Amino acid sequence: MNSNHLSSKVSASVEILRQAKEKFGDKLVYPTSLGSEAIVLIDLICRYLPGIPMLSLDTGKLPAETLKLWKIIEMRYSITISRLTPDPEEVRNMCEENGEELYRKSVELRKLCCDIRKVRPLARAVAGKAWITGRRREQSSSRSQLEAIETHPNMGLAKCNPLIEWTSEDVWTYIRQQSLPYNTLYDQHYRSIGCAPCTRAIAVGEDERAGRWWWEQEEVAAECGLHMNPLAKQPQQETMTMNPWQGKRVLITGVCGTIGSELLRQVVARDAYEVIGIDNNETELFFLDERYRDANVHLYLGDLRDKDKLMRKMQGVDIVLHAAALKHVILCEKTPRDAVQTNILGTQNIIDAAIANGVERVIFTSSDKAVNPTNVMGTTKLMGERLMTAANAHRRGNGPIFASTRFGNVLGSRGSVIPLFKKQIQRGGPVTLTDPDMTRFIMTIEQASALVLDSVFLACGGEVFVTKMPVVRIQDVAEVMIDVLANEPESVAIEVIGSKPGEKLYEELMNDEETRRTLEMDNYFVVLPAFKAVYESIVYDYPNMGEVGVDDPYNSALQPAMSKETLRAYLLENHLLTAKGAEGAKGKV
Ligand code: SF4
Repeated sequence: MNSNHLSSKVSASVEILRQAKEKFGDKLVYPTSLGSEAIVLIDLICRYLPGIPMLSLDTGKLPAETLKLWKIIEMRYSITISRLTPDPEEVRNMCEENGEELYRKSVELRKLCCDIRKVRPLARAVAGKAWITGRRREQSSSRSQLEAIETHPNMGLAKCNPLIEWTSEDVWTYIRQQSLPYNTLYDQHYRSIGCAPCTRAIAVGEDERAGRWWWEQEEVAAECGLHMNPLAKQPQQETMTMNPWQGKRVLITGVCGTIGSELLRQVVARDAYEVIGIDNNETELFFLDERYRDANVHLYLGDLRDKDKLMRKMQGVDIVLHAAALKHVILCEKTPRDAVQTNILGTQNIIDAAIANGVERVIFTSSDKAVNPTNVMGTTKLMGERLMTAANAHRRGNGPIFASTRFGNVLGSRGSVIPLFKKQIQRGGPVTLTDPDMTRFIMTIEQASALVLDSVFLACGGEVFVTKMPVVRIQDVAEVMIDVLANEPESVAIEVIGSKPGEKLYEELMNDEETRRTLEMDNYFVVLPAFKAVYESIVYDYPNMGEVGVDDPYNSALQPAMSKETLRAYLLENHLLTAKGAEGAKGKV
């Protein structure tokens, strides 16, 4: 995009605004939708014609992200955007007669809701005024004849359209050039953003307005009685590559651990604005600090039990990835008080600090041990998940979104079978196997961490993302490793030693009860909260999701195991049989 071309469009828009100001004086107002054209207009008005009153609808159902953007804009430009709220009595009567969530009951009720929450408040506020709009000629054939300033004598209205010549590309180029804030829901593939219950993300190739009232027929869904949210027609290709981590300040707990350090690496690679890491392992922290000396990474000694420190370190943070925990089953069994203090009370400290500091999103990394727990460690992880889910009950407006991600064995981490088998093979055997029928989910650290990071922007609040993982028979792992690593494979014996107390023959990532409230996506199952009624209007909507309810629990015994050939290729491709792959990852508290 030629910058002269855009600056001439900016000049033309400012000129239209000037003429409208001259013509309508104090009657000129800007009812803004807070969509992408709106951001451009707000910027132009504040820079060139400050003082034009701005107003926006607060239907009482706006997503947290829109409310947050509203606040950011007001702070950035030191302005107040007046809130247009519905008449409380009209809302009360409507809800008493039809129930709280009437939008999906019928088209008529949805239109009544739009009328009461949007059309009437706006009509009351702009009666006799001249409006500024973000409408553009490019948007549709009906708008191709738009005039810069239109008067509607029979409606007593005038409209001023400063962006008539702008294309959607111009809008987004300007947003990027000026580093303007925008609604972060765009990063989750939302395009036409309205009230939370009536808006969903769109899939690639879907029309931009497909996410509004999607349960209605297309021609009905397009009607709202109000046309003040003409969001940018951003090219699909471009939106898909927008980096949601850019500009974010991210805090990672347990940053020296297997998952924490990989999360750090990947968040840095995603170009986050700043990464703050906390860990109580001084030595590992020192070495990690050496590695990230030149990056915008700041590492601190700290413990989850120190709530004051968490409060301070979370100031200005946008996203928290909570990976710290006591994770060794036997140690937690011997010292349950410590497991409670770190895994339960420490998690509650994270929640309290995130709420106090207005963090956007908090993701807790949970484990298979939390499913039908048989030990102290698993029970504390389950309680951590429940605390994260329950924390969403305190969300009001734009409070943090709390969710968990559950995954199984991370291959190559210290304590996993791969380094153990490798050492046993190097010594000439035997390789010790707990049970030939034992199956496990497996995944590399890189894949597990990438899925944690993807879930950050999918989370709606309170759900548990269960990562889909391949399954292996542990005996196959032993046999493949002997075959690949031993000089004389036939001389290395496999000895069955029996499973340890509390050890399961299979791994569970979802239990039977959860199947009824679980929906399936491409890479995850999403376990929805059991007590959804206690949360304020959270709509659970994800790209490519299936119906709620799956047939079987996600259990390694119920999934087909990889063939030995596939397993061999998987281990080699992921460098899990090299010194780095088998031993490189560090264990962690
Ligand atoms: Fe009501 Fe949905 Fe219309 Fe908002 S968009 S006013 S919640 S029907």
